[in-house]
Amino acid sequence: MGKVYIGIDLGGTNIKIGLFDGDLHILKKTSVPTKADMGPDVVIGNMAEASLGLVADAGLKKSDIQAVGIGTPGPAAYSKGIIIKSTNMPTFKNVPIVQMLKDRLGAPIAFDNDANVACWGEYIAGAGKGVRDVVFFTLGTGIGGGVVCNGELVHGCAENGAELGHMIIYPDGRRCNCGQRGCVEAYASADSTARRAQEAVEQGRQSSLKKVLDKKGKITAKDVYEQVAAGDELAIEIAEGTAKALAITCVNMLHTTEPRRILFSGGMIAAGDILLEAINRHFQQQVWTLKKEDVEIRFATLGEDTGIVGAAALARHNYGPSK
Ligand SMILES: [Zn+2]
Repeated sequence: MGKVYIGIDLGGTNIKIGLFDGDLHILKKTSVPTKADMGPDVVIGNMAEASLGLVADAGLKKSDIQAVGIGTPGPAAYSKGIIIKSTNMPTFKNVPIVQMLKDRLGAPIAFDNDANVACWGEYIAGAGKGVRDVVFFTLGTGIGGGVVCNGELVHGCAENGAELGHMIIYPDGRRCNCGQRGCVEAYASADSTARRAQEAVEQGRQSSLKKVLDKKGKITAKDVYEQVAAGDELAIEIAEGTAKALAITCVNMLHTTEPRRILFSGGMIAAGDILLEAINRHFQQQVWTLKKEDVEIRFATLGEDTGIVGAAALARHNYGPSK
């Protein structure tokens, strides 16, 4: 076997690690608890140890590692290899993660924002395969984004570009966690979808979601989509609001980088066709009529492996044999 790649997805709860061959086929994978409260030395030590464990399990040596990729939430100085701070890992402040990992694994490290990494994974090996221009959204607690333009990730002048969740779609609209008003994240993330439903029920709207709220004390996005399937009027209205917000964002992105494909990933896509059909329908209602657009709006396909596949793919892109 030739050289191998390691892809690491560093999250606040778990570190997912995959070992890949040169064609990005997965050889082995594992997941270890992050234990962020133990501090960066321990976390990065555990990460390196688990990575070397996968290499040994595959009958390989440390010197067989061609390169390593890692994705984490920002903010970070990616080209300097430093995590500036992390909301879900408070002990991580100005951590030179790239150098620390390089010292332990002896291979070059590709480092990027987790949404960019996931976008790159889908572009290389998932639903974005075969085209050169992709826009990617993750719909979770917030909304993350990534943009591939003419075969390269867009980073921006200070490496924090493609924050697609904070595009303002409704001026003076709902307050977003980022401090702006009217961001798409304030309408269409899993949390915002659930919150809009809960607010409506608390304001007295009749809905089968009231029973859910009374029983559990809160409403989730999953609850909303379950009630859409059951025909509940309020749930349908909320879900339509989510789809419309996402569709407006798609139109804005169409006119920004003209993607061939727009991809959605994250927990919300479990809603399935109800969500995808509604985004496509609203997109057709919102998009201009000057010319026919053949952009494809699809769900991502790599599922929970997106982060590790994307990190390994980025490692190969930056430090593969042709470079
Ligand atoms: Zn925002």
